[in-house]
Amino acid sequence: MSIIEFRKTSKNFGAVQVLNEVDLNIDTGEVVVLIGPSGSGKSTLLRCINGLEQITGGDLVVDGMSVKSGNANLRTIRQEAGMVFQQFNLFPQMTALENVAFGPRKVRGLSKSEAEAQALDLLDKVGLKERAHHYPSELSGGQQQRVAIARALAIRPKVMLFDEPTSALDPELKQEVLNVMRQLATEGMTMVVVTHEMGFAKQVGTRLIFMEHGIISVDGDPREMIDNPPSERLKDFLQHV
Ligand code: ADP
Ligand code: MG
Repeated sequence: MSIIEFRKTSKNFGAVQVLNEVDLNIDTGEVVVLIGPSGSGKSTLLRCINGLEQITGGDLVVDGMSVKSGNANLRTIRQEAGMVFQQFNLFPQMTALENVAFGPRKVRGLSKSEAEAQALDLLDKVGLKERAHHYPSELSGGQQQRVAIARALAIRPKVMLFDEPTSALDPELKQEVLNVMRQLATEGMTMVVVTHEMGFAKQVGTRLIFMEHGIISVDGDPREMIDNPPSERLKDFLQHV
């Protein structure tokens, strides 16, 4: 069953068409890796899924709800699609634990102790239980990103959206974040991941999508596409990542 359905979805910023009648179905349990040149629309595609950007044409249905269908559904859609950004975006004045407990308290109405117990479990899951009371400024980039993943998971999303989650990290810190993402994939989480990590794509991706100029130009098996690129432009792109 498709949990995300792009139906001739378009997105314009003024005269600039960033998504051009995208048709794409993503099924529950898929790990879709999204690649493409800078400016091809990858971030915009992700941001439309959880309503951070409004679509301007066609439709986009998430778990049976159109993103166009009004505020009540949009709130539900945002809770169902957790997002992780390149720059972590943690609340700097809150500890790791408070960052993770914040959403469930606010959105799901959990008590402080319930939310913190759950947050501690999630920090444990991402290997950071012992850092629970540290502030973001006291954590490495890799640790901050793992807190950001725990924070997104705390809302109990059905889909996780990752926008270049390791691009801001030094090479030795990328792996600890990729390991957490690999574990999530193994547990069956539906994921859409914008990344240049082709090792991750090959190992964990169930599908690889190459975007250019707001359209999906190749969509297929990650291993086949990487080992034997079906288009010259993809081949060229892969040689430069
Ligand atoms: P990618 O993530 O693939 O690099 P983006 O989705 O960020 O691409 O951007 C695609 C295009 O949309 C770019 O040309 C970018 O300048 C434009 N764009 C993105 N966000 C905005 C915005 N808020 N206002 C105007 N143009 C934007
Ligand atoms: Mg981007």
